[in-house]
Amino acid sequence: MTATADAPTPVTTTTSSHRPAWVTDRRLASWNRWVACPVSGGAKTLTAIAPYDEMPTAPVPACTPDDVVAAAEAARRAQADWAALTHGARAEVILRFHDLLVERQDEIMDLIQWEMGKARFHAWQEVLQVANLARHYAVHGAKYLADRKVRAAIPVATKAREVRKPKGVVGIISPWNYPLYLGVGDAIPALLAGNAVVGKADPQTPLTLLWTRALLAEAGLPEHVWQVVTGPGAAIGEAVVDNVDYISFTGSTATGRLVAQHAARRLIGASLELGGKNPLVVRADADLQQAARGTVMAAFANTGQMCIHIERVIVHTDVYDAFKEALLAATSGQKLGQAFDFSYDIGSLASRAQLEKVSAHVDDAVAKGATVLAGGKARPDLGPLCYAPTVLEGVTDEMDLCLGETFGPVIALYRASDDEDALRVANQGRAGLSASVFSKDLDAADAFARRIRAGSVNINDGAALAAGSIEAGMGGVAESGSGRRHGGEGIRKYTDSQTVAASRIGPVGPLPGQTLEKFVAMGNGQLKLLRRLKVR
Ligand code: NAD
Repeated sequence: MTATADAPTPVTTTTSSHRPAWVTDRRLASWNRWVACPVSGGAKTLTAIAPYDEMPTAPVPACTPDDVVAAAEAARRAQADWAALTHGARAEVILRFHDLLVERQDEIMDLIQWEMGKARFHAWQEVLQVANLARHYAVHGAKYLADRKVRAAIPVATKAREVRKPKGVVGIISPWNYPLYLGVGDAIPALLAGNAVVGKADPQTPLTLLWTRALLAEAGLPEHVWQVVTGPGAAIGEAVVDNVDYISFTGSTATGRLVAQHAARRLIGASLELGGKNPLVVRADADLQQAARGTVMAAFANTGQMCIHIERVIVHTDVYDAFKEALLAATSGQKLGQAFDFSYDIGSLASRAQLEKVSAHVDDAVAKGATVLAGGKARPDLGPLCYAPTVLEGVTDEMDLCLGETFGPVIALYRASDDEDALRVANQGRAGLSASVFSKDLDAADAFARRIRAGSVNINDGAALAAGSIEAGMGGVAESGSGRRHGGEGIRKYTDSQTVAASRIGPVGPLPGQTLEKFVAMGNGQLKLLRRLKVR
């Protein structure tokens, strides 16, 4: 990790020269006050490294596990009053937050870029997604959580309904790649459902989460309802899992396994949004220009550091050569660089660890015989952690990047003899997050999509379409995780259902003086009647 927990950071002149001018010490202090460190008092700090110049950003207080315990207790105390408000009252806070976020988007885009290095357009996509989620759940959350009337055990004499109750305190652990979308987008439905939240900031991107916490305070969120904790994953992340009633985790499959084991020991629920190795299939009838454009957008978005981005491109042999030409032309048109404006399509990688991982995957593939069609190397001339958008051919099973997630701007091209062959390659491995199919025949593409092992499939789009369809669930199957964000599941998961059943005739069972035989005969009669009436 590029961030370290250490002793109070000495005042030094060697800070990132890319610090946005408006990020004054006063502003920093106003965000740092939202770090929940009541026990340690923030005696230690952590400082991330800015990708654009590999210099320190700004220190934030680092929490201890005892701080997390205290933060969860404070959240628990605040939760009851928050849950007692109407959904409408909570929604007002979230709608005010929406407006403030849209208004101040330049600030948060600056911070995201400074901390994480992505291109500005991809930072804006985070703003767009969170604004949409905020509005969607504020407006439709009550409907998703409404009581559900069901047929009770005895028609007329009894009634039953399922009601939704907040879990209590929800833990949210998110990674650095989408610090706004994943850190905040998952917290919004949890809050609207009446929970308090303990959110762990990734050590690479704490300022983004703290800026947003401050904005929610401005929007009217009560002081203790959302606690932000900071610090290294193992110690602080585990402390979060140990002290909450439900955990929403986004990160790697390896860490997700640990979190799941931990949650299982405590018998708390968990949603796990994990890694992918996402395929894009180009059928013989695809519009090749569209497919090439969609591939480039989905493969290199967020500098390839996006869970749903495309890493494997499987092309029907009849159109392989023509598609390759279109893809290489589209790739060469991508502008790589770092600037706090919209002048580049692809930004920097987020950390030296990321650069080393991406380079190692490509170097291993090349050493084992893969061919580099584009890129294939770092671009230190454009930025210390920039890596050229890369297209490989001839990738085989023994290469690390064949089925291992690269998480960088790198794709491998595969040739498929027909649809069945394409499906076989697409379903290789154990991941199952997102996939894409390009075809002019929407019915055939739909049938194909249903056979791909993936939580989402995009037809004639690389990745953004399903993720942007926020009324539908988003998540993984197999080793890409379980549980969904977005849509009904994305808010209901933060609640328990409670069945409330009422009888107008007292306890359900044999009436006083009625023999068990008579009661059984009556029950059997009811079964027959209900079947004839097709009631059950
Ligand atoms: P990571 O698993 O290393 O870290 C994710 C978060 O977990 C961080 O905040 C980290 O501090 C914390 N953490 C680390 N160890 C922990 C532990 N033992 N207990 C609790 N928390 C712990 O992931 P990363 O490499 O930083 O992020 C990239 C990964 O996330 C990629 O695999 C990517 O595909 C995945 N991801 C998935 C989705 C999705 O929606 N499926 C979205 C974004 C990223």
